[in-house]
Amino acid sequence: MNTWKQNIKRLIPFWLGKKLRGTYQKILGVVYKGNTYYCPYCQHSFRKMLADGEKFSVIDKYQIIGSGFRENCTCPRCYAKDRDRLIYLYLKKNTAIFDQSLRLLHIAPEAWLKELFQSLPNIHYTNGVKDAESMGYYYDRRTRDLDITDLEMKDNFYDVVVCNHVLEHIIDDRKAMQEIFRVLKPGGWAILQVPYSEILENTFEDNSIVSTWERTKAFGQFDHVRIYGKDYSDRLTKAGFRVERYNPKNESLEPDSLLKYALNKEEDLFIAHKPH
Ligand SMILES: [Zn+2]
Repeated sequence: MNTWKQNIKRLIPFWLGKKLRGTYQKILGVVYKGNTYYCPYCQHSFRKMLADGEKFSVIDKYQIIGSGFRENCTCPRCYAKDRDRLIYLYLKKNTAIFDQSLRLLHIAPEAWLKELFQSLPNIHYTNGVKDAESMGYYYDRRTRDLDITDLEMKDNFYDVVVCNHVLEHIIDDRKAMQEIFRVLKPGGWAILQVPYSEILENTFEDNSIVSTWERTKAFGQFDHVRIYGKDYSDRLTKAGFRVERYNPKNESLEPDSLLKYALNKEEDLFIAHKPH
């Protein structure tokens, strides 16, 4: 994002940002109203979703899943993306998150997921992001400032960690994985989704690339520090996790679920389990 845009946003208090976003999104929701697609977060239907994602050549070259340009990606009403709807489907079909008492840590919380978790009385919810105060327009005061490579939380404390499209921004992602492993209870699990390439054998990273433009060219986004390759699961395994890859196209779902949710069929969800 441009610096001047960030500076303007920093001046906007959370309540005003939420009101402005809400009004704009309500209007968009009406403009895009229809019956083709459905968003489980805001529970509205649309004739189409908003297009999203980047068109940089490196994304095409490595066929990065979760970064490239996609039609029908973002919900006009709440801004949940295709990957977030994939998370919803996993949570609904494969977890007890809607009814079991759980301690959940949400890192860099997306508003729509945060609202969902906060609406569930069975969830003991904590959320945080690095430099939370500088993003006051987006995060309220209950979002605490936290460093994913040095979490202040106790060992073996959380049942679930949700950390969606964060690790590709973290220089010491191995330390972040170890920290998430540490704060999870044995038997706990984490959604650790990242953009990834299935044709890149080894994760590409180069810490000498620091400018926003060089990072965009090298990694496909101005604030990414790597492109995860086929070895992403190995990195999680080395931190102690058992890795599950979930793709709803392998499941027996209602025939139109994949279409209705406008998912990226190529995208697997990465779930990291801490062994008992
Ligand atoms: Zn929505």
